[in-house]
Amino acid sequence: MFLDEQSAKQQIVEFAKSIFDRGLTKGASANMSVRIENAWVMTPTNTCFGFLKADELSVVALDGTLLKGLPPSKEFRLHKAMYDQRPDDRCIIHLHSTYATALSCLTPEDPKNVVPTYTPYLTMRLGPVAMVPYFAPGDDALAEAVGQVAAQHPGVIMANHGPIVSSTSIESCVYGMEELEESCRLALLLQGLNANKLTETQINLLLSRFKK
Ligand code: ZN
Repeated sequence: MFLDEQSAKQQIVEFAKSIFDRGLTKGASANMSVRIENAWVMTPTNTCFGFLKADELSVVALDGTLLKGLPPSKEFRLHKAMYDQRPDDRCIIHLHSTYATALSCLTPEDPKNVVPTYTPYLTMRLGPVAMVPYFAPGDDALAEAVGQVAAQHPGVIMANHGPIVSSTSIESCVYGMEELEESCRLALLLQGLNANKLTETQINLLLSRFKK
């Protein structure tokens, strides 16, 4: 199922404004895309989530040609690399939200599972979140690194940069990103304390019940 172009544009404007209004992104650093039947609708380069206009959003053909609107975010190839590995997904969001970005600057114990599991909700939404090494924004190497883990991980943190989340709908993508940010916030608040994490058995039960 694909959204039509107008619905995709309208929902991007609404959800992006909600993300901006709640302080999850500042300035023009975030980007978001929705896969429609034969194209992607994407936030244009250098635009702010709080003030998007539906008719300015970029409509990009599957071969990367700009069909309508302003030129897309320079992270277009990053989004494409993730969609290529996740053909059922319809929405990708990338932010520089404070807590997930703070966690992106720490060295993970396990790069395939970088957010400590103190509560069930991130596991229920995204499962284990992976981290990829630092590459400059817009680099092909960054898109390639994310593409390599995307099939197994709908949530990825790019080192010294920030989070990216992919999902089957705009709504679930926003919820996944919010849960990732909250879980990183908890992880940083609890860092250095002897807090109880969920056990492996508890995590596996969540994964078998909820993971999509
Ligand atoms: Zn970025």
